[in-house]
Amino acid sequence: MAKPDFWKNNKRYYDLKSYWRNMFGCNVHKLSIDAGFTCPNRDGHIAVGGCIYCDGRGSKLRQKGELPSVASQIASGKKYYSAQASKFIAYFQTFTNTYAPVAKLQALYDEALGQEDVIGLSIGTRPDCLGPDVIELLGGYAKKYHIWVELGLQSVNDKTLQLINRGHNFQQFLDAVKALAGGSLNICVHIIIGLPGESDEDVLKTARTLAALPIHGIKIHSLLALEGTPLGEMYKNNAIQIITKENYVSLVADVLEILPPNMVIQRLTADGYRDIFLAPDWAMNKLDVLNAINKELERRDSYQGKYY
Ligand code: SF4
Repeated sequence: MAKPDFWKNNKRYYDLKSYWRNMFGCNVHKLSIDAGFTCPNRDGHIAVGGCIYCDGRGSKLRQKGELPSVASQIASGKKYYSAQASKFIAYFQTFTNTYAPVAKLQALYDEALGQEDVIGLSIGTRPDCLGPDVIELLGGYAKKYHIWVELGLQSVNDKTLQLINRGHNFQQFLDAVKALAGGSLNICVHIIIGLPGESDEDVLKTARTLAALPIHGIKIHSLLALEGTPLGEMYKNNAIQIITKENYVSLVADVLEILPPNMVIQRLTADGYRDIFLAPDWAMNKLDVLNAINKELERRDSYQGKYY
C-alpha cells in the first residue's frame, strides 16, 4: 500500500493539523480549558490516589488559584493563537470533563460553542464517565459542530490497567466505544508507551486492538515519572525501568504502521510538567523525539497504515 494521497501533507502519518486543514480549509487550533472538574479516580468515588502517573494538580490556571470562565479562557487562547489559526476547538482538558450533572455540562459546553470562531469541542474523559444522558448531549452537538470525545485508556491489558490504578478495565472502555460509535461523534484514544510491566508485544497488542475498533484518532506518549506521584516514587526507588528513547521511537513507528491510515494522529509526545519532571530526560525535547520518529519511518521507508 502506498502513502495515501488524502493526507495532503509531507509527513509519514496523518497529523491533526493536516486533517483539520483538509476538513475545514483553514488552520484550526485546540484551545485548552480547565472548567474546574475533578476526577472520580481521585475524589474517592472510584479511588483516591488516581492513576499512578497523575500529578493531580490540574492546569496552570488552577495551580495559580484562579479559574476564569470558559469564555474568558477561550478569549485569552484565541488572542494568543490568532496568528496561527482562524478556527478553534474548545478542548476541555483538565481531569474528567463529563464528571458532573448533564445540565452543568450543557451550560459549560454551550458557553464554549457560543464563542466566535469556535467550531467544536474536544472533551477529555474516562470510559466510565459517559452515561447515556451525556452521550445523548454530545451526540446532539455533533449534528451541528465538530465534536471529539477523548478517552483515556493507556493500555488494553487489564493487568496493566490494574497496576497503574486506572480504576476501570478494558471491557468498560469497549462499552464506552460501543455507546459512542455509529453517529457523528469522533473518538480519540490516549495510550502510553513504556508502562510498568509492559513488553513491546503488549504495546503492539494495544495498537492492533485499537486498529480494529471504530476509533478516529489517537494520542500516544511515553510514560513520564513526575515528582509527587506514586510512579515518581517507584522511579526513585528503582522499582521501574524507564523506556529508552530508541525503544520508544521504534515502538511508535511499529504502532503507526499497524494503525489505519485514516486514524488521525493527535500527539506523539508528552507535554509540560517541567517543574516536577523526573524522567526520562529525552522526553523533554519534543522536537528531537518527533524528528527521531520521522527518521525511523524514513529509514524503514514506512508510514502509518503500512501494515494495517
Ligand atoms: S483519570 Fe486522568 S485525572 Fe483521573 S487520576 Fe487518572 S490521569 Fe488523573
